[in-house]
Amino acid sequence: MRPEILFPLFATVASLRGVGPRIAPALERIAGPLVRDVLFLAPHGIIRRPRISLAEARPEETATLRVTIEEYLKPRSPQQPLRIRTSDGDERLDLVWFGNAARGLEARLPVGARRWVSGRLERFGLGLQMIHPDYVVEDSRAGEIPEVETVYPAGGGIAPRVIRRIVQGALERTPELPEWQDPAWKAGRGFPSWRAAILRLHSPESEADLSPASSARARLAYDELLAHQLAMAQRRAHRRSGPGARLPASSLAQGVEASLPFTLTPDQRTALAEIRADLSSGHRMSRLLQGDVGSGKTVVAMLALADAAAAGAQAALMAPTEILARQHFETLSAPLEAAGIGVVLLTGRDRGPVRREKLERLASGQAAVAVGTHALFQDEVRFARLSLAVIDEQHRFGVGERQRLLDKGEGVHLLSMSATPIPRTLELAAYGDLDVSRIIGKPPGRTPVATRAAPMTRVTEVEDRLVAAVLGGAQAFWICPLVSESELIDLKAAEQRAQELRLRLGDRVGLVHGKLAPAEKDAVMADFASGRVKVLVATTVVEVGVNVPNATIMVIEQAERFGLAQLHQLRGRVGRGRAESACVLLYDPPLSDTAQKRLDILRRSDDGFAIAETDLELRGGGDALGLRQSGFPDYVFVDPFLHRDLILAAGDDARLILARDPGFSTPRGEALRVLQSLFDWRPETGTKGA
Ligand code: ADP
Ligand code: MG
Repeated sequence: MRPEILFPLFATVASLRGVGPRIAPALERIAGPLVRDVLFLAPHGIIRRPRISLAEARPEETATLRVTIEEYLKPRSPQQPLRIRTSDGDERLDLVWFGNAARGLEARLPVGARRWVSGRLERFGLGLQMIHPDYVVEDSRAGEIPEVETVYPAGGGIAPRVIRRIVQGALERTPELPEWQDPAWKAGRGFPSWRAAILRLHSPESEADLSPASSARARLAYDELLAHQLAMAQRRAHRRSGPGARLPASSLAQGVEASLPFTLTPDQRTALAEIRADLSSGHRMSRLLQGDVGSGKTVVAMLALADAAAAGAQAALMAPTEILARQHFETLSAPLEAAGIGVVLLTGRDRGPVRREKLERLASGQAAVAVGTHALFQDEVRFARLSLAVIDEQHRFGVGERQRLLDKGEGVHLLSMSATPIPRTLELAAYGDLDVSRIIGKPPGRTPVATRAAPMTRVTEVEDRLVAAVLGGAQAFWICPLVSESELIDLKAAEQRAQELRLRLGDRVGLVHGKLAPAEKDAVMADFASGRVKVLVATTVVEVGVNVPNATIMVIEQAERFGLAQLHQLRGRVGRGRAESACVLLYDPPLSDTAQKRLDILRRSDDGFAIAETDLELRGGGDALGLRQSGFPDYVFVDPFLHRDLILAAGDDARLILARDPGFSTPRGEALRVLQSLFDWRPETGTKGA
């Protein structure tokens, strides 16, 4: 139930003054349906620099100046703008209006009049111009031009000034809320109250107020993090309190393990022990198994699958692509079948009687293990007694998709797997609702991949070396990124590269890309895996988990365009055997300083977590894309880099709160209910935006 104090904020936007039937839909699109969403429309800010004279003004800045109207340059055709020439006595500034906006100006701005104008300056010929100034006012109203001003996400044809007015209306309705933050923490951080912070967010008084590090913005970020951490901690507690099938460690799995041609690494052993403790506890497991590509997660999962089968239960392993599912099936089926465990591969390509037979084996419980793609959670798929779901590359599935698989049984244990390294500092935000097991050490016998960066100008040399190595028996990946707007152009580039290599290596060169039909893709991949194809030219469709131990060379074109985590994952596909492996990062010169540093860290480090951390620092959290891909939530107020210390604090805070007052019955607990309701990050609704 929503606390009454929040009612004004949970009214619809249409209830705000100035929001009629025309504006409401547009506002809903930009902000959301509720008054609260308007308050959460975190603005950027612009600084209007007051300038004494045009001589000190700069193009591209937003400035406030006093000028005299000198001359009207009327448009000679309807397409041309009206240009009003002005001057500050020494230099010239053109004020420019297009179309209807130019109407009636002559009366308001007579030649000879003095006005304060404010807007963005551009270079125009030798002078400056200002197109559609934000403000043109007489001396007496100069005070109306603010020095810092908020800018809201544009859209729906609502003028910026109108949005600002609507936000002000929402602020007038904003009540002071009971304080949910710990008093000592709040004082230590110098945080304002929630209401003061929201007011300051929308009415900044100085440049400093616009910084994410300002106390107002940091407070709002912390509130958001705390609400999220509480929700995740509750969700986790809720899952753990639910009953789960008891799947104790089995001699069957022991047999499977003994049949492997290697022994588990210490990290694998620890991870397996953690998983087994969950599976035998009688409570539902929610665990993430995190480890670099090739660190040996699948083997660990396989032994858990065997435990499930031994207990007479069923288990499913779901992967995001056909290729990965197939590879998992190939890895698992032999050792499991040898132990008498039936394994079924189910993908979107199964049709007709074959598919029917597979579904039957799962529905009857004849097959204990299902490996597959999205096909696994479709409605027609039934399990006799599904008790464990393993989800590989979990962030590539939606929350709803994962849930659909879990819903195919009762109290199904969840084991998520991820090879996407996420900086430690952000882990809590991404996976706060999961217990995490980590595989850090690599299986033995891997040689570090010699990594170097080279400019594109040396591509011929790289090709020469690659050809020599391939003629000597090596296998290689050549990755062409998707970079241009047009997939077709990119595809051409990849085709051209393949063609060039074919001139020298003939049909030992294969090409895979996103446009290829799945069956064709698999055929090429299979040829590469079997060694018939020696060089695989690929756009980034080469899946993260693809395992070809004989491949020792990885060439990546335009490496500067990739996220570091992605480069690290790509590189992880070589260096799996005993032979020396090499990774060449080709770049288009010149490299920016940051780009140089980013490529350097890859040369120096092979630790996915350290690389992700450095990447975050180098990019300053500016590019959140990579983070979102790795499962980082879509926060309103939180900057993943600048607020990273707050993530840890909020996690600690949430755990402490739930330990001390799980029922939210203290006064602070009451206030925390308001916080949770404000952010709507309730356990039932899951992660916002997901
Ligand atoms: P991940 O799923 O983490 O990408 P895999 O489980 O596919 O990694 O393992 C990659 C490769 O390493 C496989 O060929 C696997 O057989 C091998 N491998 C896994 N664990 C070990 C180990 N402890 N010792 C030697 N090789 C191992
Ligand atoms: Mg894998």
